[in-house]
Amino acid sequence: MHKLIRRMITTGIVSAPKPAPMDLAPETYDSAKALVRRLGRALAVRHVDAGSCNGCELEIHTLSNAHYNLEGLGIHFVASPRHADILMVTGPVSRHMVPALLTAYEALPNPKLVLALGDCAAGNGMFGVSYATVGNVSAVIPVDITLLGCPPTPTAILAAFVALTQPVASSNIK
Ligand code: SF4
Repeated sequence: MHKLIRRMITTGIVSAPKPAPMDLAPETYDSAKALVRRLGRALAVRHVDAGSCNGCELEIHTLSNAHYNLEGLGIHFVASPRHADILMVTGPVSRHMVPALLTAYEALPNPKLVLALGDCAAGNGMFGVSYATVGNVSAVIPVDITLLGCPPTPTAILAAFVALTQPVASSNIK
């Protein structure tokens, strides 16, 4: 037992050091923090997968890991568009998702900020227009910002949240 304890003490911590969370784009993180401060509350995002291949979703999920720490910035995903500031849509909009997308947009409170995320949502994707897909989000609902990439990086997604919400946050300043 003593031998084991001595070994634990002399070996120390052997795991790799945790990477710095802001090593990717510090200015993007700073802008996100400032944005949430100006809003005076958390920023809420509702995601609708309108026929994505799930590549975009992997990058979106990555934002929530300990490294990117989206929740730590005060930005979180919500279950209902009624509670959201941003409606984020991925995929080329499969035709059976059109009614659901329209319902989500109707439920979104004003000013109804919409982010079309990824090449497919923007109309530049590999699926295009077909019997199964509409081809882009803006053919179904109004889009405020389009973020290209197949898929876009987590940092680019964060930057799009900031760009989209900046005018609303600025109007909060008294
Ligand atoms: S943009 Fe690329 S990663 Fe995103 S849904 Fe389309 S094919 Fe998949």
